[in-house]
Amino acid sequence: MNNHQPNDLNPELEALDEHLRRLTIESFSQEWFSGKIRKPRDRNKWICFLGTGGSPRNLLTQTKRTGGFVLNFPDFMMHIDPGPGAIYHANYFGLDLTALDAVFVSHGHTDHFTEAGVVIEAMSHIMSQRRGAVLAPGELLEQGYITRFHQGKLPAPGFGPYRGGPAAVLAMQAENPLELHGDVVLIPHRAYHGNENYGFTLAYKGLKLGYTSDTSYIRSFECKSGEIVTVNSGLALGEMRDFIQVHEYHEDLKENYAGLDILIANVGFHHTFAHRHLTAYGLIHLLKDSGVKLCLITHLDIAYFINNGLAHDMARYIQEMSGVRCIVPEEGAKIEL
Ligand SMILES: [Zn+2]
Repeated sequence: MNNHQPNDLNPELEALDEHLRRLTIESFSQEWFSGKIRKPRDRNKWICFLGTGGSPRNLLTQTKRTGGFVLNFPDFMMHIDPGPGAIYHANYFGLDLTALDAVFVSHGHTDHFTEAGVVIEAMSHIMSQRRGAVLAPGELLEQGYITRFHQGKLPAPGFGPYRGGPAAVLAMQAENPLELHGDVVLIPHRAYHGNENYGFTLAYKGLKLGYTSDTSYIRSFECKSGEIVTVNSGLALGEMRDFIQVHEYHEDLKENYAGLDILIANVGFHHTFAHRHLTAYGLIHLLKDSGVKLCLITHLDIAYFINNGLAHDMARYIQEMSGVRCIVPEEGAKIEL
């Protein structure tokens, strides 16, 4: 029988108990609940990729990371598409997500939304504060991809300190501008990839950025025989075999992402799965004569990383064919804006 009477303990265990009590209290820091961000806010303008890998094969092998990317301005920080590994790699690369002002989730695929809840807990300082905005498709909010708790809707009283959450939960609508904290205006744009899904363009003090999300682009193409082939799931591997040129495409995407300083493009594959993804061929067409100054290519399949240098080879091909500077960013590096 262990009735845990302190007087029954020998002096060594009594001292150990005291040691455990003291360090437990001392290390419990109220600063987590003070509403202050943990590190001084970084006043520089940058984008940092917590992953440049996409597609299920890469997601499962983590050949490249899948944590999305973080956009930072002097008074605004947003995490875009926090997939698996987002919080681990933010810490690994030294980013303080308690400074977040917004979390953007484009759609309900594993590599885009999985760690939204964790990142929201960082933004709201362990759900103790009302801080920041969550931007997501309405169906993700309604269907619980982002839980009611992480939307700041408490199911019952008695949640102790966890009474915070996002200050705003915004169900995006295409072409409906959203004014965010710190002079940021974000316009969601429809993406063509299955269920409700948005890319965006964003303006901040004269700087214009865009993000395609996962989207198809080419609707039909001309092949070497002169035949016009419709892009759909009936093509094996969604392959645009014997591609010569684009015939029909989603014109709204080319219009929406024209004239940007930086476009972040989710290119799944070079010429396959075109019915669901932006391909190299599609991106070349989108970028040509677009006025885009720099294209950051991300969300690539494992094929471009297990074959040494292939991701950069594809970026070089897109750059040569489109005339727009293209790079595959280095994960964890801060790309100055
Ligand atoms: Zn997707």
